[in-house]
Amino acid sequence: MCNFADLKDNIYTNDIMQQFIDKYDFTGKKAIVRVDFNVPLNENFEITDDTRIVRAMPTLKKVLAGGGSVIIMSHLGRPKKVDPKFSLKHIVNHVSECLGVPVQFAEDCQKADEQAAALKPGEALLLENLRYYAEEEGKPRGLAEDASDEEKKAAKAAVKASQKEFVKKLASYADCYINDAFGTAHRAHASTALIADYFPNDKMFGYLMEGEIKAIDNVLKNAQRPLTAIIGGSKVSSKLAVLKNLVGKVDNLIIGGGMGYTFIKAQGGKIGLSLHEDELIPDALEILATAKEKGVNVYLSIQTVAGQAFENDTPQRIFDTNNIAEGWEGMDAAPKTLEAWKKVILSSKTILWNGPVGVFELPNFAKGTLQIAEDLAEATKNGAYTLVGGGDSVAAVTQMGYADKVSYVSTGGGAMLEAIEGKELPGVAAIRG
Ligand code: AMP
Repeated sequence: MCNFADLKDNIYTNDIMQQFIDKYDFTGKKAIVRVDFNVPLNENFEITDDTRIVRAMPTLKKVLAGGGSVIIMSHLGRPKKVDPKFSLKHIVNHVSECLGVPVQFAEDCQKADEQAAALKPGEALLLENLRYYAEEEGKPRGLAEDASDEEKKAAKAAVKASQKEFVKKLASYADCYINDAFGTAHRAHASTALIADYFPNDKMFGYLMEGEIKAIDNVLKNAQRPLTAIIGGSKVSSKLAVLKNLVGKVDNLIIGGGMGYTFIKAQGGKIGLSLHEDELIPDALEILATAKEKGVNVYLSIQTVAGQAFENDTPQRIFDTNNIAEGWEGMDAAPKTLEAWKKVILSSKTILWNGPVGVFELPNFAKGTLQIAEDLAEATKNGAYTLVGGGDSVAAVTQMGYADKVSYVSTGGGAMLEAIEGKELPGVAAIRG
């Protein structure tokens, strides 16, 4: 079954209805639509989570309802050559079911001329995995490990040269281009960025892309204050640019999860065996100094649930976070921390959350992260705007049944992070530019 219950109202909000896709006349037109159908499959090639397919439906249905036809393109996994494991044919039946029309399949995305030309209004064609071709990513493949710099340079030039033909072929199938693949918007690939040049007056965002961009703008550009960011996850190094950008924008910065212990250590705390990165201590101190200078409140963990091993059933003990005993490892936020953070969350008008505040994949250390999900749902109910992104944070709100009790759940992990780093995403720039 196609799970439309997960579709959120805000995909259809009024301001989104003002966008270009709604004004565009699709009558008799062929739209090539980049979607992110990179869905998880089990060993029988069955889809285990169809969220990405479902979330692209409003855009695809809009074109069909408007008298057009769609040529759908996506990647699946990271194949480095043609590999049946990563074939999009595994999902074609489900896409048909969701779209409500039988979807045809083109077994080679570069040889779909005839099928594309034959499409009639209301019909749909799914192209085989774009990443079967190196040209999609524009990176050379199969280079020997000991290749010289010159060989590498030549291989790169060759793939860039053939990339032009690759893009041109995809563009030749259609009259207009829609990008609805937020999950890959941070990649400057053929189908996410380069193809837009072929449609200077006929390129547009799909509803999902538009919703994601607006959600990020609601936080970074048009936020109601106080604005709070909750950043968790494993390492400071993977979210350093995010923290550095946010510290100049938010009123409150909650730093949780594994990355918090580097900050605690930087301030002289004893963190036992907790995850930390000594080489990032200067960056942590710089972030804290910038926050102080700008009047931003930083909230670190004050009390921690620790374990003796990175296992679900390891004995647990609660410590003050700046005084964790030797042999113990901080693995979740404890009640005093959660209480303090909850006060900040409930007094905020806009909240961004990315990253778990504990080892979420171990159920005995998931409580803190689930509590944050609950706090966000409560804040949303009280009128705050809440944006949630990142695998574990999204899983936490979903697990709690709160996916429709927060304002927006992002579908793009890496893309969202790059956007909150303050970078312009190539997939967005290609449409806006
Ligand atoms: P990220 O991909 O950066 O959002 O990080 C997610 C990972 O952070 C998850 O796999 C969590 O298990 C991990 N994590 C969160 N808190 C901790 C912690 N206190 N110690 C170790 N890993 C953690």
